[in-house]
Amino acid sequence: MSTPKKVLMLPGDGIGPEVMRQVQRVMDWMTKKRGVNFDVTEGLIGGASIDAHNNPLTDETLAMAMEADAVLLGAVGGPKWDNLPFDIKPERGLLKIRKEMGLFANLRPALVFDALVGASTLKEEVVKGLDIMILRELTGGIYFGQPRGIEERDGVRVGFNTLIYSEPEVERIARVAFDMAMKRNKRLCSVDKANVLESTVLWREVVERVAKDFPEVEVSHMYVDNAAMQLVRNPKQFDVMVTTNMFGDILSDCAAMLTGSLGMLPSASLGAADANGKRRALYEPVHGSAPDIAGQDIANPLATLLSFAMMLRYSFDMGDDATMIETAVQNVLKGGLRTGDIMQPGMARVSTSVMGESVISELNKIA
Ligand code: NAD
Repeated sequence: MSTPKKVLMLPGDGIGPEVMRQVQRVMDWMTKKRGVNFDVTEGLIGGASIDAHNNPLTDETLAMAMEADAVLLGAVGGPKWDNLPFDIKPERGLLKIRKEMGLFANLRPALVFDALVGASTLKEEVVKGLDIMILRELTGGIYFGQPRGIEERDGVRVGFNTLIYSEPEVERIARVAFDMAMKRNKRLCSVDKANVLESTVLWREVVERVAKDFPEVEVSHMYVDNAAMQLVRNPKQFDVMVTTNMFGDILSDCAAMLTGSLGMLPSASLGAADANGKRRALYEPVHGSAPDIAGQDIANPLATLLSFAMMLRYSFDMGDDATMIETAVQNVLKGGLRTGDIMQPGMARVSTSVMGESVISELNKIA
């Protein structure tokens, strides 16, 4: 058996526990068939934690997250907790864990599976084979910059925010981006607005400087308005894109929707590297807790399974195993199985658990 990989599973609310069960099955399969040693603990977050402890994220759970090599989260929230005060709502648990773990880099892949190419609103030839990664800076920029507010100046009300980035903030996200490019196709596009905003003039300078440490990576720079246009016109020209918090917020949603299916989208958020190069990391599907379909065994578990594949690739350097899971998902879809959210004419509608079982059958064929 390999060295233990400490994973904290936080299923959360709604469909979270159902989709997470399918990941647990894949982990069991990997332990049995490939000798991977997962040391799994489970904790509560969101509404489930409020029900048990009147707190969306307890200090004990947070300590478990800090101890873990990686955290996998389902989803939080639901109507049961909608009327609670803001600071004990389920979503506060999620914001707190991201902040306390120092997760400054948000990775959102936009990947179009051949079998689902029809789900995109764009033409097949534009999105077929699409596989890009958007890296968004998550803890700085205009969403956090001071001063900010609304006040009266010379008898007129004004609203204002501050777009500010320090060199170290840009450097650490740039390094994650270059590492990512090295693990993919060695192409990186940094998106800024350096023709207008000084903060992104600095951004561009720092990215250029970090680039010197990664001579194999081909770097380009693009203004954000052009990047938005290019993402819709010809998204396949990109491999890894890195950008600021606000630009990334907008571009990652745009890129995600090129794929057309919320139940298929994984994500990862990474923190600073320690002396051994290990980063704190949290993986989660992009979708929420889907209370409208919770408890019915009909949710799509693939976004969570693909988030787990990202965990293998980025936290445990198990890129081949990650690819194996992605291929298994690809094959299941090719075989015509669909959960309700990605249903297409002529395909077979299956439950959450049958989808999980089918991924395992495919893994048995590939491994
Ligand atoms: P949602 O993503 O939960 O659901 C939107 C729609 O997509 C629903 O119709 C749902 O049934 C469907 N859907 C989502 N995931 C699916 C899946 N895996 N399989 C099949 N269908 C799926 O967003 P929402 O309805 O706006 O929010 C519901 C709750 O989730 C709210 O309490 C919200 O705050 C919370 N939320 C949590 C997160 C998170 O935990 N990261 C993210 C977004 C929303």
